[in-house]
Amino acid sequence: MPKLKDDTPHYWAIIDALPFAVLLKDTAKPHIFANKQALHLLSLTTDSFVLSLHDIRHIRLADPISKTQLSLAQNPLLMALSGSSVNQSVLFEYSGTTVQLYATTVQLSFTLSNSVLIVLTPESTASKFDIAQTERVDDTSELEEALAFDKLMSLISTELINVRPDKLDIHIEDALTALGEFCHADRSYVFLFDKQMKHMSNTHEWVRTGIKAHKENLQNVPHQALPYFWHVIQTELIFAISDVEQLTEAAQAEKNEFNAENIQSVLCTAMSSEGQLLGFVGCDMVARKRNWTASDIRRLKLVGNMIANTIQNVNYRLSLQKMQNKLVKANQELKVLAARDGLTGIANRRQFDEVILQELHRCTRAQAPLCLMLIDIDHFKDFNDNYGHLAGDDALKRVAIALQQQLKRQGELIARYGGEEFAVILPQCDSAEAPLIAKRLHAAIFKLAIEHTFSPWQLLTISIGYCQLTPDKKTSINTLIEKADTALYQAKAAGRNQVKGISL
Ligand code: GH3
Ligand code: MG
Ligand code: MG
Repeated sequence: MPKLKDDTPHYWAIIDALPFAVLLKDTAKPHIFANKQALHLLSLTTDSFVLSLHDIRHIRLADPISKTQLSLAQNPLLMALSGSSVNQSVLFEYSGTTVQLYATTVQLSFTLSNSVLIVLTPESTASKFDIAQTERVDDTSELEEALAFDKLMSLISTELINVRPDKLDIHIEDALTALGEFCHADRSYVFLFDKQMKHMSNTHEWVRTGIKAHKENLQNVPHQALPYFWHVIQTELIFAISDVEQLTEAAQAEKNEFNAENIQSVLCTAMSSEGQLLGFVGCDMVARKRNWTASDIRRLKLVGNMIANTIQNVNYRLSLQKMQNKLVKANQELKVLAARDGLTGIANRRQFDEVILQELHRCTRAQAPLCLMLIDIDHFKDFNDNYGHLAGDDALKRVAIALQQQLKRQGELIARYGGEEFAVILPQCDSAEAPLIAKRLHAAIFKLAIEHTFSPWQLLTISIGYCQLTPDKKTSINTLIEKADTALYQAKAAGRNQVKGISL
């Protein structure tokens, strides 16, 4: 069973159950649905039943009579998907099998737009489905060709609307292939200008079989190298030369360049988006000259507009993405800042409230022990009064850092609970460990040896009260805090500079 994406409609189930190969495309959407039979018939090894234009384009089809490979403009699958050869049956050869294609437009009751339904049958079984055979017409009239081109472009542009930036190149190449083939050109390409409008680079190129590619040699070409061309494309937005030999002396540099590349005729149109010139799209004739027609110019402009809009669209989306990433980062930084105490840099009361709730729930669920310690600096008012508030601030910072350094296990948290009070959350701390950790914290501050001549010990000291328990559903945070606070009060009442704890 193929994978079903959340945003894919449900008619896949119907077409998948059909006993013959079917491709289905909603004309307003880029996805092409292929059932199991179609994937098998076209030897497509994909685990998705949603194909892209790119998948279809790379199926090598041949004319069953001449055995020559069909070009993009003749590709009956693409033509049918773009709605061109509806109600008509054609034959093509694929991997030695002659396949018959019958395309029709249908209005499915559950969609708003039309869909193209293509039934593919190996020729031997074609009669089973009673498909009428018609001759393929190779000499399509100019009007039909124009219509076919427009439909192919609309097919490509529906795919371009939400193109992923990393898939952009494939679609631009598709558009250039269509352009080159419909304009009967030998080469088609896109050039983009740099931001300073000083250089141009050949970013995408299509060449007819047997024609030399030049993309690699046409990177960062300075405008001084082709001054006439630059002037014309920027002022007239079109550069149409049917015979390179007719170029005047003013275009000597261009003539030399075209001769070096064996170009006989060249047609370029400027690509701009929101009034800004981005580059140009063009076609070359190498094998012979071509008098460019109004249709050629129209096609070139259409493809140019499509590519320019898509590039702009992708750029917008990329810069939006960048901005979003910056915002997400700023938000994360803000969150970290909002959880910190400004003076000491350790967690603040808000963070404490959040974490104690989480840990209480977690330890209740896991039936694990939990310990809360409240720590208060002894005689700190006297310290401030005698050494000054700034020295008091500094002592607070040193105490906070020294306490934090004692906590090594994951999940343990120290927070500034109030003025000169700290709270320590110790998950997984049992009744045997709690007094040991409390003594370690107590000793760490004594070891700091912060002078406090107005204390009975001549040094800055702390008192600690803790509550240790294995919480159950009835245990509340208030109980935990109250018990720890009572223990702290006992430590103070017993003379300060000591630890008192309750294990429940
Ligand atoms: P005890 O041993 O009973 O805890 O006595 P104590 O003096 O520490 O207690 P008390 O609550 O009377 O005084 C606490 C002092 O802590 C009062 C205040 O000046 C000081 N304090 C609170 N927050 C800060 C602060 O951010 N910076 C400074 N420098 N002092 C602070
Ligand atoms: Mg206090
Ligand atoms: Mg105090």
